[in-house]
Amino acid sequence: MSERTVSEPTLDPADWSALRAVFHQAVDDGIAHLQGALDAPVWVPPPEEAKALLHEPMPQGATPVAEVYEQFKTQVLPYGVGNVRPAFYGWVHGAGNAEGVLGDLMAAFMNCNVGGRAHMANELERTVVDWCKELTGLPPEASGLLTSGTSMATVIAMTVARTRHADGDVGREGVAVACKGMVGYTSSEAHSCLSKAFDMIGLGRNALRLVPVNADREMDCDALEAMIAADRAAGLKPFMVAATVGTVNTGATDDIARVAGIAKSEGLWFHVDAAFGIGALFSPAHRERAGAMREADSIGFDFHKWFQVPYDAGIALIRDGRAHYATFSGRKEYLASSERGLAAGEPWFCDYGPELSRTFRALKVWFTLKSHGFEGIAAIVNKNIAQAAHLAEKVEAQPKLEILSPTRLNIVCFRHLGAPGMDDKALNALNKDIVADLQEAGIAAPSTTTLNGRTAIRVCLVNHRTRTSDLDTLLAAVLDIGQRRTSTASAA
Ligand SMILES: *Cc1c(COP(=O)(O)O)cnc(C)c1O
Repeated sequence: MSERTVSEPTLDPADWSALRAVFHQAVDDGIAHLQGALDAPVWVPPPEEAKALLHEPMPQGATPVAEVYEQFKTQVLPYGVGNVRPAFYGWVHGAGNAEGVLGDLMAAFMNCNVGGRAHMANELERTVVDWCKELTGLPPEASGLLTSGTSMATVIAMTVARTRHADGDVGREGVAVACKGMVGYTSSEAHSCLSKAFDMIGLGRNALRLVPVNADREMDCDALEAMIAADRAAGLKPFMVAATVGTVNTGATDDIARVAGIAKSEGLWFHVDAAFGIGALFSPAHRERAGAMREADSIGFDFHKWFQVPYDAGIALIRDGRAHYATFSGRKEYLASSERGLAAGEPWFCDYGPELSRTFRALKVWFTLKSHGFEGIAAIVNKNIAQAAHLAEKVEAQPKLEILSPTRLNIVCFRHLGAPGMDDKALNALNKDIVADLQEAGIAAPSTTTLNGRTAIRVCLVNHRTRTSDLDTLLAAVLDIGQRRTSTASAA
């Protein structure tokens, strides 16, 4: 072992064995955190004292890592968002998995910059990208880039689409010159990351037309065609349509094949947002509709949702890899690559997105997918879909509860009906209170949404730890809280 002889500053410890002991303790605590997830309350609100302690002045001097770790362990670790617990059903949060944590940990040890150059982390990311092409049915010449999530994947996809359809070199001339009148389409149920992307690519949110949805909350394709025709008649330039596999509100999936057909005949870029809906490819009941994403020009989805990879990890896939490269490449001398040595390893991932320095995100994805196999992920997806059907059935059987949207995939939206005579306004307040009560009591963490003006208790099942019995507990608690709140309300 080489020792330091001169006392120059370094961040390495004087005593590696003390450091090793802290790491061993941390791994034990981390595993205990996961192992205890089944029994712990789903959410513990961060105490004010702990928050105040964290907001301290910039540390000038050193603190032994054992002390820093202790502060983390007592004041941060217990107060997470709760998605590692089985009763977390809010928004769309994956639960993570231990093998993925191992990948994240080892990626931090390796500390690779996956922007480019000749090293193994790039090969591993390419492997993950290849698996995703195979999964989605995109051709071998497609390209892919791991991202922080679907929001960033959408920005990347929309940038390529815009550049491809611009009138001139938009990268040099800007949108004011090269993108006059360009408009795109998605449904009114699409995720807000699409309008954010339209803002960021310079076209503006108004250039993203929101197509109305049908009773199943899927894009109304007749309306889409009519809107495209109206925009063309007004002299505008339709260039893109984005469909969703698994909307955040209700889990609806647009008619992907039909939207693909319209995109083709209209000459539009066809994007698919499959953030969590990518899981539908594993479901015999949903595979056919979702599988039409193989027609897409670009797809964005997340590993950190239904695939259970620890945050954060998503991917942008682009059918035309050369268009993708042409949009983001353009390194200067200092970053030039070479035939040999460390500066080899083309193509570099930095030429496929806005970031030069990139984390080794692929490792936790690889650890997760290798350790559990696609079959392991498929089993979770199908369990969650069956659990949603189970919950919907139980809700339907309860006279005090009402389903607010058809349960198609993994999301159940329902409400408590309160006491006779309560109007929608009162019921909205009641159902918001029920959700906040459940969260604050640490019993369960659904979220809310609004459907046709009605507040829904929204249960999204993307968590591999959720047991069907947890859903029975949830329902009993909703009924109990609803009962208590309406009886005190009418007594008051
Ligand atoms: C979560 C989600 C997004 C955004 O993805 P992030 O990974 O949070 O950036 C976009 N679309 C849908 C349908 C989602 O569920």
